[in-house]
Amino acid sequence: MLNLVLFGPPGAGKGTQSQNLIEKFGLIHLSTGDLLRGEISQGTKLGIEAKKLMDEGSLVPDEVVIGMISNKLDANKDARGFIFDGFPRTVAQAEALDNLLESKGSAISGMIALEVTDSELEQRLLKRGETSGRADDANPEVIRKRIKEYNDKTAPVAGFYKKQDKFKSINGIGSIDEIFASINSVIEAY
Ligand code: ADP
Repeated sequence: MLNLVLFGPPGAGKGTQSQNLIEKFGLIHLSTGDLLRGEISQGTKLGIEAKKLMDEGSLVPDEVVIGMISNKLDANKDARGFIFDGFPRTVAQAEALDNLLESKGSAISGMIALEVTDSELEQRLLKRGETSGRADDANPEVIRKRIKEYNDKTAPVAGFYKKQDKFKSINGIGSIDEIFASINSVIEAY
């Protein structure tokens, strides 16, 4: 199985590159952000609770997102592999993911981090906010809070995969095709 963690701050281009990877490798895309937005649009209890946190730029609790990922892994037993996008976002989530995959006789192949500067991120997110309809993209204060959450809680997840020798970073600034080519050269090495 090819199990990739696509890593990087909000606005780094994970969703865009995930679409390319799904087409090329036939992987299942698991974006916790998309799964949470699905819960919100369906008006579930989980969605109602998550919305408050998401709108202010905070992370939702680990057990909520771990539960969602566990359900999706069970629902896609025959998959050729997965792209994890926006997950794991804390070291506790990374540990839980290792355990979930191990219990299925699988493992993470590697983490690929997209490197983008903070000022570029802020610009991209504000631009996305003009069309995405996402409340968390429209407000500069919320964007800064998301980047802070990333630096405080999510950036350490890179160290978790570095220890396992599974971390690679690539330049996330450039054309979509250039960045996709860099991702492919990392995957070829697996
Ligand atoms: P971004 O474009 O900022 O990377 P996502 O669409 O992945 O955002 O997620 C939007 C929001 O959903 C996050 O700011 C957070 O509140 C919540 N969220 C998504 N994934 C996770 C996760 N793995 N753990 C905790 N909260 C999450």
